[in-house]
Amino acid sequence: MWDIKSATAEELKSLLEEMGEKPFRAKQIFRWIHQRGAASYDEMTDLSAALRKRLAEEHPLTTLKVLERQISEDGTQKFLFELPDGETVESVFMRYTYGNSVCVSSQVGCRMGCRFCASTLDGLKRGLMPSEILDQIYRISVLTGERVSHVVVMGTGEPLDNYDALLRFIRLITDEDGLNLSGRNITVSTCGIVPRIYDLAKEDLPITLAISLHAPNDEKRRTIMPIAEKYSIEEIKQACRAYFKATGRRITFEYSLISGVNDTAQDAEELSRIAGPLSAHINLIPVNPVRERGYKQGTRASIAAFKMRLEKNGINVSIRRVLGRDIDGACGQLRHRKIAESQ
Ligand code: SAH
Repeated sequence: MWDIKSATAEELKSLLEEMGEKPFRAKQIFRWIHQRGAASYDEMTDLSAALRKRLAEEHPLTTLKVLERQISEDGTQKFLFELPDGETVESVFMRYTYGNSVCVSSQVGCRMGCRFCASTLDGLKRGLMPSEILDQIYRISVLTGERVSHVVVMGTGEPLDNYDALLRFIRLITDEDGLNLSGRNITVSTCGIVPRIYDLAKEDLPITLAISLHAPNDEKRRTIMPIAEKYSIEEIKQACRAYFKATGRRITFEYSLISGVNDTAQDAEELSRIAGPLSAHINLIPVNPVRERGYKQGTRASIAAFKMRLEKNGINVSIRRVLGRDIDGACGQLRHRKIAESQ
């Protein structure tokens, strides 16, 4: 049994040949799945009924089921999906001036243990299959009736901890017979698994790499991110240089501002010395308070002051717009609430 939605057009071709079918059927099926978001073989009306039946029996087409859909006042929509094995993941649809963006999850839960993050509260269950990452986007596109032009792999999970599935996902979503997304419109966010950053650099993909830094030195970083015990900021910087050299893509550093933890003037100065030489972009995120975590957001003025300090040092910086705060906005909160409610 094949996971049809995870297969490339080439792989489908050999499957169809094996089944004694014409190879050109592969492209038809691929387009139904990846371009039009078909949820079942029944929708593929240009295939014979016999072939549709045989495919459904031998290689069922799996689709995510919407368990919950929340629509925010600002247009942001949050989806809780059920996977074929009953696990759940969440995804977010956001409208920007440049297009529509979907934030996808890459794993069921997470084992990275960042202290401020809700996604890691229930641990890691498993990595998602490429089909399950793709289908978050396909279902959302079908349900909203809108084109998705940007994807951020910033939902639950550590994408570089599910590396092979991530790569296949990127190849499929950028396929010209699929959604045909530009690699430039894809951002992958990682807590900084250094060897995997080098691997990714070799793939020659024009995607943006965002690194969750969240602290300007190892000592502070270790208090909020367990991964910092494994890789130092110096090692991350070297990996970023290699990534930039190989791809020509500037790195983004994500920095969640947590009041009293990483938002002092000195933190801003230290952060500038990391980002400056790399010409990295800094994305400041006012920390999203998670009930179980107890971290607090700084005042609007303290966030603005932090930004200004970085700018004075010539750093390219933006503050993440807060979207969907009224709908379990923070990473992993919707899924976590559902799990808590069912216990
Ligand atoms: N594992 C990946 C991607 C998932 S989270 C990573 O670590 O980058 C996407 C971003 O949101 C990360 O920068 C993460 O650190 C941040 N984040 C998680 N919980 C948050 C919270 N409560 N407030 C603000 N940012 C948060």
